[in-house]
Amino acid sequence: MSCIFCRIVAGEIPAEVVAKDEGAVAFLDINPLADGHVVIVPRKHVALVEEMTADDAASLFRTVVRLVGPVRKALAADATTIGVNDGEASGQTIPHVHVHIVPRWKGDGAGTIHTIFPRKTKRTVAEAAAAIRKALGG
Ligand code: AMP
Ligand code: ZN
Repeated sequence: MSCIFCRIVAGEIPAEVVAKDEGAVAFLDINPLADGHVVIVPRKHVALVEEMTADDAASLFRTVVRLVGPVRKALAADATTIGVNDGEASGQTIPHVHVHIVPRWKGDGAGTIHTIFPRKTKRTVAEAAAAIRKALGG
């Protein structure tokens, strides 16, 4: 088994696990963006969100919901940023779906999800919407 997150799920390599249930395992990021930075992974190996079953995605997000309040309280944080890098081009470095929960404090100097994008759009909003509806079969 070469996937590092599968190996953490299997208990083959150490991690600071904070929660686990039948569908997911949550542990501290080894290279935290902030104190209390948690990653939550589905037990089942899947590289991309779009490859997940609806049940597995629901199970993963249930664990996110269960953790986000306790993580915020434990670190006396004012908020959290919750994010997924989905695909190599987005910056995903480990091809096993994972949700980041990063505690946030007023004035912590970090940006919002919006600040990571240079906003180099080439299509109108309506054109993009039409393309997505078509891909959905609508
Ligand atoms: P991403 O860029 O979204 O793929 O994030 C992968 C995250 O996994 C990074 O924030 C890494 O610091 C984290 N990471 C890598 N190896 C480990 C590990 N052995 N234990 C905990 N977190 C890890
Ligand atoms: Zn894996």
